[in-house]
Amino acid sequence: MEIREIGEFGLINRIRKSMASSDPGLIQGIGDDAAVLEIGSKVFLVTTDILIEGIHFDRSWIDPYRLGRKALTVNLSDIAAMGGTPRYFLISLGLPKNLPLSFISSFYRGLKEGAKRFHVDLIGGDTSLSQKIVINICLLGEGKKGGLLFRKGARIGNDLFVSGTLGDAALGLKILQKEGLRRRPKALIGKHLSPCPRIELGEAITGHRLATAMIDVSDGLLIDTTHLLEESGVGARIWEDRIPLSRSYRKWIQAFSNDPYQIALTGGEDYELLFTAPCQMEERISSLARSLKIPITRIGEILPKKEGLHIIRKDGKDYAPSRLGFEHFR
Ligand code: ADP
Ligand code: MG
Repeated sequence: MEIREIGEFGLINRIRKSMASSDPGLIQGIGDDAAVLEIGSKVFLVTTDILIEGIHFDRSWIDPYRLGRKALTVNLSDIAAMGGTPRYFLISLGLPKNLPLSFISSFYRGLKEGAKRFHVDLIGGDTSLSQKIVINICLLGEGKKGGLLFRKGARIGNDLFVSGTLGDAALGLKILQKEGLRRRPKALIGKHLSPCPRIELGEAITGHRLATAMIDVSDGLLIDTTHLLEESGVGARIWEDRIPLSRSYRKWIQAFSNDPYQIALTGGEDYELLFTAPCQMEERISSLARSLKIPITRIGEILPKKEGLHIIRKDGKDYAPSRLGFEHFR
């Protein structure tokens, strides 16, 4: 059997089953955005993400400065998804021999800018020769015991919310791939090259105890919703016409697809937060959105597991999506 037959998530599930840990200090192991450990009176979060040239990025459309910042962002987003506070990180690099030193200095300038903005410090890493650029960051964060959110925790009857707008980064990537690095449309290309992790929002949602479960949207709305539903043992319905779309997305999507929602449902790398909350929290969530100036939209509701995940179209017809989004090896 080859990996392609079970895909990225099938593979992770196998690893999860075969390596299950019963350590009493481990609050959350494999299966969430970050691992959660209790050491003494403190709760630590640990997450890691890899970026590989030719798979996650292409040097012809991302400059080293933005690449450095984005490498950190994708990890920061996983700490945001737990409602934690990021603190320290390690970075390991695989680099080709002929890479100009100026690439490395720009990369580290981007990394430093991200580190300063989110108050995290670089504490180590590893460096090796490689044919293509490989970037792996391991980020440590902290949180309050009982004050973090997990993918599990969604309850039947909860509402489903998402921050920001969806599909911008994936549409930005399509435009980059088709037209190369141009300045327009800035909003979409910018969302792909310079996403912003929702750290403050994640901390506020956990701090005010507004939600029951949370995940970041890194692989796409449908895939990440599916992860949250599976871990919580529930189903959901999403109203397609409530999915938040930016003005730029609405304008540019027409050149790429007849279905305005397809990329917003399945495209990855928006790094927005998707969370569930009891319906009585809606007013408090709206007031948080206003105070942080981050849009938060109610896009669906949690149903019993047997309902699965289905999308309600504007005309009232519903369907169970067959293609969920990006998965490695598929
Ligand atoms: P995310 O998209 O939030 O980064 P992933 O889908 O990459 O999450 O990972 C889901 C879970 O599987 C996480 O707990 C992650 O640490 C774990 N995981 C991913 N790859 C491996 C692996 N090769 N071995 C062990 N655990 C893994
Ligand atoms: Mg994640």
